[in-house]
Amino acid sequence: MASKINIETYPGNIINNEFVSTPTTRHSIDPATGKPLYEVPVARKEDLDAAVKHARASFKSWSATPFEDRSKLLLAYADAVEANRTDLERLQTMEQGKPLSLAQTEVNMALTWLRQFATMEVKSEIIEDTAERTIYSTFPPLGVCAAIVPWNWPILLGLGKVGPALMTGNTVIMKPSPYTPYCNLKLGEIAMSIFPPGVFQVLSGDDSLGPWITEHPGIDMVSFTGSIPTGKRVAASCAKTLKRYVLELGGNDAAIVCDDVDISKCLPKITTLAFLNSGQICMLPKRIYIHEKIYDQFRDAMVEFTKNNIKTGGGFEADVVVGPIQNSMQFDLVKDMYSQIDKAGWKTALDGKARDGAEGYFMEPAIIDNPPEASRIVVEEPFGPIVPIMKWSSDDDVIERANALETGLGASVWSKDLVRAEKMARQLSAGSVWVNSHFDVAPNVPFGGHKESGIGMEWGIEGFKHYTNTRSLWVWKKTFD
Ligand code: NAD
Repeated sequence: MASKINIETYPGNIINNEFVSTPTTRHSIDPATGKPLYEVPVARKEDLDAAVKHARASFKSWSATPFEDRSKLLLAYADAVEANRTDLERLQTMEQGKPLSLAQTEVNMALTWLRQFATMEVKSEIIEDTAERTIYSTFPPLGVCAAIVPWNWPILLGLGKVGPALMTGNTVIMKPSPYTPYCNLKLGEIAMSIFPPGVFQVLSGDDSLGPWITEHPGIDMVSFTGSIPTGKRVAASCAKTLKRYVLELGGNDAAIVCDDVDISKCLPKITTLAFLNSGQICMLPKRIYIHEKIYDQFRDAMVEFTKNNIKTGGGFEADVVVGPIQNSMQFDLVKDMYSQIDKAGWKTALDGKARDGAEGYFMEPAIIDNPPEASRIVVEEPFGPIVPIMKWSSDDDVIERANALETGLGASVWSKDLVRAEKMARQLSAGSVWVNSHFDVAPNVPFGGHKESGIGMEWGIEGFKHYTNTRSLWVWKKTFD
């Protein structure tokens, strides 16, 4: 019987399967109300040192545990998370702000991911096998991994690192964003009754904790998801100890809509995705290029659809799509982008507006009508419910514009002509490219960014290999006896 969590109490960080309290605590706030949430620990350097010591000690036995046994434990863990899912979903809406239905989607995805990860073994590969010798590629684990998690999608992105780290034989320390510590701490608490001590630990802290982790000589690998500027700091810090790292960073995805689409069929998906989680997902359509032949019709239908279907409000209200912006820092950034509408003279197809922020960080959706290509709303990732739509006329030109930025996380092409669409898709520089879709992800499919959107991949066997060393093993059959 899985233990039941109490979402109102956070007795300590999860170190070696025990709660370790800290002299100081802090809290985050509910972004829909501005009200404080529960007190959580603030890890000290000595807490990190203790977690690393235990992680190193447990690595010896965990890395030697057969794949099948690790798999059984990960499946048991998924069941225990599922037994607590209702509480986790409510807690996710309270701390992150996303609509409850989206919190449910996130938990569904996390469970699917864990259960699929439990089947994914990185097997030795035979490079050469002759009468004289066999040469293998083998993939031993790295040691102690750190999972540094952002505030926008903390359950899936946290467990999306923990699962592969554990299945490849590493031990892992998860660090939530200070803005969203609650679900990640509860995920660690649930793990206490499943995994051996020191295998999966969670440390909540303040802004000092991330840099302590990336500098720590006892940590072998950092899997980081967050913004591009922070990713560069993480890479520079990891370089000092030559730690391995995987960086999943920001994006500014182009969606290219061709002139032959059936607008009524593709528009609801494109529009809903553009505003999903209030635009606070790394890989959403953030620059929508619409063929000039259908531009006016598409724009007007998009405005109508948004007015009728994209409701702004608190995450516990029915049918809400755009919940609050997650935190005051991000709220100010998004408000600044909205303020450019007047300052830069952008035309709006739909005027969004900010509510005052006193009772939640709400922004209503805005659609910017054909702004100049060099404007901030096109070149910067807004991470809010504001999206530009632009006209295009030639395939080559739109591909060049889609590829022009330093980001390359996702991109999509929408057309009935699959040959033309695939030809265009193959020219887009992004880690994930879709034809007639956007934002599809799966646990067995690698996910990552080109250019400044990241280094390395997560998920899929390729992602799993980033948690391993490659060891070439030469076995000569002549035994010298
Ligand atoms: P962020 O970079 O501010 O923080 C991410 C995490 O890093 C947090 O846990 C934070 O505490 C920690 N951190 C901050 N400074 C650090 C440092 N110097 N060293 C180590 N850790 C440090 O990002 P955010 O604001 O939480 O997330 C939003 C950004 O993340 C957006 O740009 C978004 O596009 C990106 N993102 C990318 C992906 C992806 O998979 N590519 C997914 C989600 C979000």
